[in-house]
Amino acid sequence: MGWLRWLVYLIVGLAVAGAGLYYWYFLDARVPSGAYSIDIAEVRRLADEVAGDKPVEIRAEQVFKFRFPFSVMVVGKGWEEIDVPVFSYQVAYADRAIVVDTGVNGVESKADPNFDAAAYARMQTAMLTAANIVITHEHPDHIGGLVAAENLPAVLSHTQLTTEQADPNRKYGPKLPEGALTNYTPLSYERYHALAPGVVLIKAPGHTPGSQLVYVKLADGREVLLLGDVAWRMESVKTLAPRARYVSDFYLNEDRPAVILQLAELKRLHEAEPGIVMVAGHDATQMAELVKAGTIKLGFQ
Ligand SMILES: [Zn+2]
Repeated sequence: MGWLRWLVYLIVGLAVAGAGLYYWYFLDARVPSGAYSIDIAEVRRLADEVAGDKPVEIRAEQVFKFRFPFSVMVVGKGWEEIDVPVFSYQVAYADRAIVVDTGVNGVESKADPNFDAAAYARMQTAMLTAANIVITHEHPDHIGGLVAAENLPAVLSHTQLTTEQADPNRKYGPKLPEGALTNYTPLSYERYHALAPGVVLIKAPGHTPGSQLVYVKLADGREVLLLGDVAWRMESVKTLAPRARYVSDFYLNEDRPAVILQLAELKRLHEAEPGIVMVAGHDATQMAELVKAGTIKLGFQ
């Protein structure tokens, strides 16, 4: 009966190896050594530094929707597929607005049933007249609408791509049309950049080299922090549960340790400063709550 014993060894061995791989790719949430910090006092000081009235509200358009298994969005979740909405934001002042993130490329996506052509058209109109346009990072669901803008020179004239986002040799994300960035001066900053009254960009390389957070202090004192895709879902911040390594390594090629250190800092900040509303990149559940609470209004104006 020696063969039976060896068969049992083989099955147990395969089970152990499989469990190890499953842990590594779908459950591991260990925090690496290193540090990422946000000096919120400095960010607030910068938000107050630029003269002028602060924004009055934040609006969102959902221009697209993916469907992914929850377990790849946040480690430890189940295998059911959930909505992964793609948003563009409008930080609105009394007399002008800033567009943050530009959704997907509407030319490439127009036949997709998950593409909202009306929302996309409103976003493109808002981009033409915006005071500023910034993107949280250079992935196709954030820079796509900019890349496809019909009157790109007009839109780019008030777009602040960072040095990393405008790098013609960058490895990630769709490129702007040939020659579009000739004579373009990208935005170069170290940690924080005061973009406009109440609006501060916070460098957060990791998900992509050009990733940044957008802090907004509204005229009524409320504070919002747009996280981009550092966190796809708010659970990643609240429970320090990153997306699965499987997607980090095989689909995104992101600097996963850097992202987890950012999540750790965001969790600390979320607990220390619960008044700051953090907005995860693709969280349908959270967006419904934010709209209900009036923190974000659906639909650009
Ligand atoms: Zn995204």
